[in-house]
Amino acid sequence: MNYISTRGDREKITAACAIKQGLAHDGGLFMPEKIPELDSQDLAELCEMSYPERAAYILSRFLTDYSYEELLEDCQSAYSAERFPGGAAPIHKLGDDKFVLELWHGPTSAFKDMALQIMPKLLSRALTMTGEERTALILVATSGDTGKAALEGYRDVKGVKIMVFYPVDGVSRVQKLQMATQLGENVNVCAIKGNFDDAQTGVKKIFTDTAFADELDRGGVFLSSANSINWGRLAPQIVYYVSAYCDLINSGEIYAGEMINVTVPTGNFGNIFAAFIAKKMGLPINRLVCASNKNNILTDFLETGTYDRNRSFYTTMSPSMDILISSNLERLLYVMSGSEETAAYMKKLNEEGRYTVSDELKQKLGDHFSGLFCDEESTAKEIKRTFREDEYLIDTHTAVAVSCAKRYMEKNPDGTKMLIASTASPYKFAADVFKSITGEKPADELSALEELSKLSGVAIPYPLADIDKREIRFREVISKEEMPSNVKAFALGK
Ligand SMILES: *Cc1c(COP(=O)(O)O)cnc(C)c1O
Repeated sequence: MNYISTRGDREKITAACAIKQGLAHDGGLFMPEKIPELDSQDLAELCEMSYPERAAYILSRFLTDYSYEELLEDCQSAYSAERFPGGAAPIHKLGDDKFVLELWHGPTSAFKDMALQIMPKLLSRALTMTGEERTALILVATSGDTGKAALEGYRDVKGVKIMVFYPVDGVSRVQKLQMATQLGENVNVCAIKGNFDDAQTGVKKIFTDTAFADELDRGGVFLSSANSINWGRLAPQIVYYVSAYCDLINSGEIYAGEMINVTVPTGNFGNIFAAFIAKKMGLPINRLVCASNKNNILTDFLETGTYDRNRSFYTTMSPSMDILISSNLERLLYVMSGSEETAAYMKKLNEEGRYTVSDELKQKLGDHFSGLFCDEESTAKEIKRTFREDEYLIDTHTAVAVSCAKRYMEKNPDGTKMLIASTASPYKFAADVFKSITGEKPADELSALEELSKLSGVAIPYPLADIDKREIRFREVISKEEMPSNVKAFALGK
């Protein structure tokens, strides 16, 4: 199976090369040449497997240059019971016809773990397969969750180092503690005086500095990124939709072949695109509900056919969905309209900040997707209602999805069961969850963990428990001008 760019078909490379390279040279994203199919026999086999086996099975269909044995070994260590004590992707039944897919039982309590636990292993193997002798240095600017999930995923992976920058006053106390106490021999964490933009601009500058790259190269190091447009992050996300479908069959909630709907709380469009690929493979999914918060650019796009990023940006209590450019949407446009049309839309987006898709494409999008959004007040109400009525604690992102799913089901009462992706532990956003239920603001974020646990009777998950008692390993706070020299010291130092 070869990989090609969403903006032109000339470059054809292996999966290992696509994962090592990240982005195509023409600025497009890599996609497999064709989508492998799952038939009912395959599904029956998958039903008998454990999560790591299912993951290796699905990944081996896409990453044909990796051996099944290698993939199985990596999946077994990535999704082990030790790292995912609550199961890799368990389902919680909500009412009669809704099923919440909990994607946050990993080592940082966020759904990014589902991809970032396995992707570094895929990269490490890609380096070996492509004869790369240099060390890959992953640079990340983070406003919180991605940084920690990336650190935990890349820690002690062979052939790789990782360095994370975060704005000193731009992340929560819990997030700061999570990063400052990070374990691993190949990791480094650095706070930047400034905001997230300063950190991100600093990282981008380093990435585009060719003299800097040459210097690292002479020292046997090259730069790489961990962001969500890499196919190595997307492919592992297809697995949990297939796995959830198998679990629903195994528990007798659906019969094999029964159509289900899926709702996904969406930001960069990676998670919901993975569900779309699962559908394309043949998983019996009817509709994909794209749930947005107050930053409802995708709701408008699906309704009008116009994507327009020239609009206000809102900071909400579901910050991982506060996004105006959903990068992975490009992959969907490509699957539905081809590379020429996609390249033209992306050019318009770059130049004018907006584009309008053809009527034909708009119709095709509407055949698969429904867009809904949920404002801050409704998000808080949903957290409270789900806790009081269903005795189930959900985080702010999941609440957006539950609210949108319910509204979709009211408008379409055809009895189709709904799978809802839950993307963060409620304890990751404990203060907002606690306030939504009680109306009271906890004293601070650390006490919010305790108070929420007392209120709900649900234990604080292991990645967040005792977070204030762990050894602080990284205390450095630097100016953004000092970033290049710090990167160099870390890259070439050890
Ligand atoms: C990243 C993230 C999302 C958005 O997922 P996309 O794949 O970017 O659409 C939603 N919720 C949480 C908690 C996240 O961390």
